[in-house]
Amino acid sequence: MFSRRVFFRGALGAGALALVNPPWLGAQTQPTTAPSVDPRLEQVLKSAIGFDMHNHVYPVGSEPDMRMGGGGGPGGPAGDRGPGRDGGPGAGPGRDNSKSAITGPPPGIAEALRQTGLTAVCATFKVDFVRGDPMEAFVRWLDTVDAALAADKLSRALKLTDLERARDQAKPTIVQGTEGGHFIAGELGRLEKVYARGLRQMQMFHDRDDTVKSMGDFIGNRGATGGGLTAFGADVVRECLRLGILVDLAHGTFKTVMDGAKIVNQPFVVSHVAPSGGPPMMRERTLEKEQARAIADAGGVIGVWTKGQLTPAQYVQQLQAMIEMAGVDHVGIGTDTDLLSTRSGQSTATALHDAPGGFFPAIVAEMLRQGFSSEDILKVGGGNYCRAFDAATRGH
Ligand SMILES: [Zn+2]
Repeated sequence: MFSRRVFFRGALGAGALALVNPPWLGAQTQPTTAPSVDPRLEQVLKSAIGFDMHNHVYPVGSEPDMRMGGGGGPGGPAGDRGPGRDGGPGAGPGRDNSKSAITGPPPGIAEALRQTGLTAVCATFKVDFVRGDPMEAFVRWLDTVDAALAADKLSRALKLTDLERARDQAKPTIVQGTEGGHFIAGELGRLEKVYARGLRQMQMFHDRDDTVKSMGDFIGNRGATGGGLTAFGADVVRECLRLGILVDLAHGTFKTVMDGAKIVNQPFVVSHVAPSGGPPMMRERTLEKEQARAIADAGGVIGVWTKGQLTPAQYVQQLQAMIEMAGVDHVGIGTDTDLLSTRSGQSTATALHDAPGGFFPAIVAEMLRQGFSSEDILKVGGGNYCRAFDAATRGH
């Protein structure tokens, strides 16, 4: 039997003792001056569905070809983007992954999730960073994820009740996503095929052109044109709604996002962006205040990536900046990290320094320290995402 407490202890790594004497407070060396652990921490972690709206989950052998991020393939001007522009090697200042330590053999999905302290992540695969038919590559990757989940006796979350069960049973899981809709290749029927394989979150756009039928304008290798959703893109959105797939408009231009939002007409997500500023490579995808506000007003939940943020304190400041723009009901976590990476700094568990206890517990502790209410932490930590996920999947 699993229990939240077991998970909670596991997530904190050092066990229950860490609650009494957490190393990040320096309690062991400064017992008289260390502040006590916030009494709300355990309760918030017990109640939270900690969710990462954008994660790359590549079991060994299923990694996309990151060399294709440099613009060498069809539709991409050569060399206009470095590899890893979106979360690959080198994304984010202070990270030189060519020198970063390999931390050991890759963990399984269950163990990697446990290390993060999250309840679930949306698992994506860059379908435009493959050679050959994106549909074949996508299905091959789904097969690999199936096997990895089966090895850990996990199944994908298909509805909100599955996420609630994952929390209650301390058995973290994934929501199946994609990064790019290139596998559709002009054939809407393909969406139903991958829905049957568990797809419940559809990020339509990524870095590279769709070589068959464009779904709309995006911020990627061709440069945004100022356009919005195409008629076919609108059809894809409607098909997602019909099937019960959460629409993710990340990487779309602002006009594309707003065009999509009008059709969705219910909560949706923009899974991984940031407030203005941030690492140069990803700056063109950051949101201005008016844009974030408009997305929120249209029902969007905006995930904030960890790129360029080195500590929980810095990351929580990014969350706070986005909350000031979009409101606390419209912000979530969207790390844009690699769950199973063995490179320190690139995996979700190691994305932030000074995060003893695990990624999510450290963020919750930091949010409490920075004055967030428990209620707001539950929203940003995953509650807002759950509202959108439920709206998309309920009744299907
Ligand atoms: Zn991305």
